[in-house]
Amino acid sequence: MKLTTKSFGVVAILAGSAFCAFGAQAQEPAQNDGLNASLWYQTAVEYKTTAISVYAGATRLLDDAIGDHSWTAALEQDGNYSSKPPAIILDVDETVLDNSAYQSWVVTANTSYSSKTWAAFVNDAISTPTPGALELTKAAAAKGVEVFYVSNRKAPEEAATIKNLQQYGFPYADADHVMLRGEKEEWGSAKATRRSAVAADYRVIMLFGDNFGDFTDDVDGTIDERLEVMDEYATYWGERWFMLPNPTYGSWESSAFGNDWKKSPEARRQDKLDALNSWSGPQE
Ligand SMILES: [Mg+2]
Repeated sequence: MKLTTKSFGVVAILAGSAFCAFGAQAQEPAQNDGLNASLWYQTAVEYKTTAISVYAGATRLLDDAIGDHSWTAALEQDGNYSSKPPAIILDVDETVLDNSAYQSWVVTANTSYSSKTWAAFVNDAISTPTPGALELTKAAAAKGVEVFYVSNRKAPEEAATIKNLQQYGFPYADADHVMLRGEKEEWGSAKATRRSAVAADYRVIMLFGDNFGDFTDDVDGTIDERLEVMDEYATYWGERWFMLPNPTYGSWESSAFGNDWKKSPEARRQDKLDALNSWSGPQE
């Protein structure tokens, strides 16, 4: 998981207090970039019902996907796969596990993501299932579909990840089915090599993720280029590819600043502001 949330929660609180106390006008807007996203993710029925709807739609299609031996969801599937046993591939973070407690800590502590604090969070194994994820994975397993978890959590985090998944009864939560970044040399952050590894032995009938890279490696373009790739696979969405909403981080954010993480936080934020298509405001 690559997080970039730069939040300014304390500034937001102070700015809000000042606004209330003095009725001040022309306050600079608080730069609490992650607050609404994390609040929505953690509390909104509008989030939870969206996730439930995505998983329920997939569950209804399981029998069709299992029965149609030409059905595959993996771009990496090749050769004669029709007789291979069916499998599904799911991302972990913000797809089957809800890490909003970490994101909320980033906001409330007025800090930003770091691999060190993220690793500590992962090792606590306190993430909870995303709405609908357990139902879908259990329904698939009950129908003879193997479940693979392809995550960009790092290889040393496998034991904690498996523990967290097993705690809630996710099926196939074991070392063979949890495929993390760096477990093998060719398993980098791009996930195609891991999808290929599953597709070598299984017919991959559905993919689940919260990030474009959970479906294709062709994710690092501009905003417009990403939209073109999305359109290229228009028939996949909601049938073979299932996207969970995640407004807290993701490749959608970095595409707004040219995927250039060397830029300063201020420059990245300005690029994001510039990417907005904004009304010019009321005419005087
Ligand atoms: Mg994810």
